[in-house]
Amino acid sequence: MTTSTRADLTRLLRADLRGESAYGAPQLAVPAALNTNENSYPVPADVVAEMAAEVARILPGLNRYPDREFTALRAALAGYLSRSGTPISADQVWAGNGSNEVLLHLFQAFGGAGRTAIGFTPSYSMHAIIAGTSQTTWLPGRRHTEPGRLFELDAESVAAQVESVNPALVFLCSPNNPTGTAIGLDVVEAAYAAAPDAVIVVDEAYAEFARPGTASALTLLAGRERLVVTRTMSKAFALAGGRLGYLAADPELTALLRLVRLPYHLSTPVQAIAVAALRHTDTMLGTVGAITAQRDRIAIELAALGYPPVPSDANFVLFGGLADAGATWAALLDRGVLVRDVGIPHYLRVTAGTPAETTAFLDAMASLGDEHRLTRRSDQS
Ligand SMILES: *Cc1c(COP(=O)(O)O)cnc(C)c1O
Repeated sequence: MTTSTRADLTRLLRADLRGESAYGAPQLAVPAALNTNENSYPVPADVVAEMAAEVARILPGLNRYPDREFTALRAALAGYLSRSGTPISADQVWAGNGSNEVLLHLFQAFGGAGRTAIGFTPSYSMHAIIAGTSQTTWLPGRRHTEPGRLFELDAESVAAQVESVNPALVFLCSPNNPTGTAIGLDVVEAAYAAAPDAVIVVDEAYAEFARPGTASALTLLAGRERLVVTRTMSKAFALAGGRLGYLAADPELTALLRLVRLPYHLSTPVQAIAVAALRHTDTMLGTVGAITAQRDRIAIELAALGYPPVPSDANFVLFGGLADAGATWAALLDRGVLVRDVGIPHYLRVTAGTPAETTAFLDAMASLGDEHRLTRRSDQS
């Protein structure tokens, strides 16, 4: 009989991880899951058929490791990005299992212990979390807080904040999650100029949903060898479960990321599925117009209900005017609608789904009692 007592495993954990809790939005079976900015539409049947045929074709070869250089996928991603009008070559492209992995590669290569990264809060919380896992010191930069300019970011303020900390990495998110608004390219240019020793990362996960006239940082890549633009197939491309994120940058920078990736990090099925999806780009992106129409409907109807929305270039809307965001989140869940509490007092974030899901959300909002409204009194909190 053994008399062993269980070891306290948290004592064995890296000191900087002790007491941390794992990131992750609830995955609940509800009629309207509008909390993780997925595309609500399933992959179209003809694309499913081609993916299935491609996967069937490669299955016998799974005894071999995948193409480490994901050659066909890289070419397809470069071709897709080039459609925007900025020519992007295959050697400018890097990919991973979701853009989260691509972000990890950037931190592993250019951050690490003793180095700092800055982002502008509120923004994508994974930037700070991945910084932590790579032992990069994360510095939360500031956005405007004045009414009328709330959550905005301007070139002057970004340059001043970046200059004062001399970071190894600068993160800009455009359109920004969770606020929704895209930034001007002048902000990217200012960050680049103010941090001569930094890699500047523009996270464009929602680029395909941006309002007309929104310029991509892809147009700034030429001549800026420290600039990186990250994208994902998880949102507009309706492929969140496929796990494929990517970036475009200078060929020398992407080559350096080979130093930190695990060997054969992109499985053969993932590569095949993503290539098949990219072959049907127009079909895969065919829902973008329907989604942005629901986004705009959400903004208009929430404003009419007295819950002010933040202008959105993404597939979601951040809205305020709530007495207690947590209480409203729970009340919506009671009504079968799951939204995201992103930790900003008095605000919640909702994904633009199908018209039926959007109706379910708006009906639930309209059914809320006045106790959910932010009044002058509850504003004191
Ligand atoms: C959803 C999202 C991602 C995408 O993550 P994947 O790992 O590609 O699924 C990246 N950045 C932001 C800002 C996001 O909101």
